[in-house]
Amino acid sequence: MDIRDDRPHLSNILATALNAADEFLEPLDQRPAALRPSSPEPMALPEEGCGGRGAIELFRRRFEAGLSGSSGPRYLGFVTGGSTPAALAGDWLAAAYDQNLSNDGDSIATTVERETIQLLRSLFGLGDDFEGVFVSGATQANTVALATARQWAAERLGVDVAQDGLWTLPSIPVLGGTPHASILKAVSILGMGRGCVEHMACLPGRQAVDPQALAARLEALDGAPAIVIASAGEVNTGDFDDLVALGELCRRHGAWLHVDGAFGLFAACDPDKADLLRGLDAADSVATDGHKWLNVPYDSGIVFTRHLEHQEAVFKAVAAYLGAGPDLLHRTPENSRRFRALPAWMTLMAYGRSGYRELVSRCCRLASRLGDGITASEHYELLAPVHLDIVCFALREADGEGERDVERRDRVIRRDRVINRLLDDGRVYLTPTVFDGRPGLRAAFVNWRTGDEDIEVILEALDAAVG
Ligand SMILES: *Cc1c(COP(=O)(O)O)cnc(C)c1O
Repeated sequence: MDIRDDRPHLSNILATALNAADEFLEPLDQRPAALRPSSPEPMALPEEGCGGRGAIELFRRRFEAGLSGSSGPRYLGFVTGGSTPAALAGDWLAAAYDQNLSNDGDSIATTVERETIQLLRSLFGLGDDFEGVFVSGATQANTVALATARQWAAERLGVDVAQDGLWTLPSIPVLGGTPHASILKAVSILGMGRGCVEHMACLPGRQAVDPQALAARLEALDGAPAIVIASAGEVNTGDFDDLVALGELCRRHGAWLHVDGAFGLFAACDPDKADLLRGLDAADSVATDGHKWLNVPYDSGIVFTRHLEHQEAVFKAVAAYLGAGPDLLHRTPENSRRFRALPAWMTLMAYGRSGYRELVSRCCRLASRLGDGITASEHYELLAPVHLDIVCFALREADGEGERDVERRDRVIRRDRVINRLLDDGRVYLTPTVFDGRPGLRAAFVNWRTGDEDIEVILEALDAAVG
């Protein structure tokens, strides 16, 4: 059909979408947290379309029942936020307004992104010397930060990588205790190679780097440039590197400090946890996610750096029709940029500092309550202390068990059986992990909907999954 024929139906179509969203979100707490539906027969591209309303109805008939309650209260896999009411409205409006935030000068929208960055700096307690920009998630934020660090490191070796590439350079070491998988992806994308990442020893019983091990490695580099990756919120246990110690080491040895705070940066919101981030100001770059603890819809990450000139050297896009001003497209991989800041701006204005203080401290309290439940359980035991909002645990085992290969395989099978039973049960979704050689499970609390009442349900479901 002619697209223009749908124009008179626009508000009707939006009302249909609103109704669909309402019918999905209202009973979200009862929807299975995750499910494994079978896929319907694929449809061919229609010659004549069915119009906006028809497409919504067709989608709902074919796919809606297969959507998970991942934005609901008991999807605890990965680190998965939901979408606050204000953030959801902001995201809808971002699509309705459909601004391109590449250049200043043709819309106020870039001003909104800059204002949102300032709100986030204030939320995280970051100084004004951190320039920030929205990207699609923390993987991309880590990639932008590492590209900027790469430009800086190569410059110290006399090479402009953005211009001349990496071809003449020695490998640039990237050092960290527990770098997230996205760091390895980033160095692969950037041509530095996964092999440049060196895993430093961690402190005993911790997922935090041993500063002495890092000091020894930096010493051995004898002034050659290095990039240090600090975890502010390690993904299995929520452990934190000591940013004060790492910052001092980086200053002493002239290394770049990047802090991956995809979810852990939100510790800044809770006065009881903020200390975990002491030393953050010494970072050269910081990455975080909007679509985790900020609870905005997917497609939201933020990168902060104190080296805008290096960042722009990498990402500048030069063409006669593009501005040469301080436009945001010169800071990110994208040229055309979605109005990603709007859902973040909406939720920050709607709930303010106190809203996020309450959310972060509630999530930490819930994690600690689940941790207590696990400790008291006859079936499960904690694999690590609960540092923040993540609970890492495993099926309980007798002393001395698990030494032999056959026992190790058996433990994976038993753990996977629990995960499958939880999936069939539907009340709770958890993702597997391996911690310290032991197959385990992890539960991450970041969703605004999750409450104390959910802890009982989670513990019940976990008990029912054993057997
Ligand atoms: C989730 C996460 C990432 C990657 O973020 P995406 O939003 O999935 O791109 C990076 N680092 C840490 C510590 C994370 O938890």
